[in-house]
Amino acid sequence: MVIHTQGPAETQAAAQRLAPLLRPGDLIAYRGGMGAGKTTFTAGLARGLGSTAWVSSPTFALVHQYDGPVPLCHFDMFRVTTVEDLYSTGFFDYLEGGAVLAVEWSENIEEALPEPHITVEIAIEEGDRRTITITGDERFL
Ligand code: ADP
Ligand code: MG
Repeated sequence: MVIHTQGPAETQAAAQRLAPLLRPGDLIAYRGGMGAGKTTFTAGLARGLGSTAWVSSPTFALVHQYDGPVPLCHFDMFRVTTVEDLYSTGFFDYLEGGAVLAVEWSENIEEALPEPHITVEIAIEEGDRRTITITGDERFL
């Protein structure tokens, strides 16, 4: 599935629309650099999964959890480069906890990503345009 958005509100709305397709245990691995819109997309997921909380980047905490009918765990793996680091985020426990996991900088934990997983790649285009490509599951064809 490929989605084109213009501005953060559209990216958030697109994610909110897609969220009902997600199931407990799904993992979303983001691709896309700083400022692509990964956190913005995650805010839409949190809304769509039933949380009303404010979503902010888990840069310092490494993981934020949003509770709704389906909980969402939002990771920032920017500084996570070793398996020890990864263990300390609680990633492996969250994997089995029945939440949806959304992982920024998933490139850093490539070897630890469960298969299958959903990949959300966000490419920065001209200005406020983004191209969002979702692969890895037939729900998003
Ligand atoms: P990331 O988590 O990938 O670093 P953020 O979601 O924190 O990115 O930030 C995205 C930035 O890009 C915000 O400043 C937002 O206003 C801006 N932006 C501009 N256009 C878009 C768009 N179409 N979708 C998402 N964010 C956009
Ligand atoms: Mg971010």
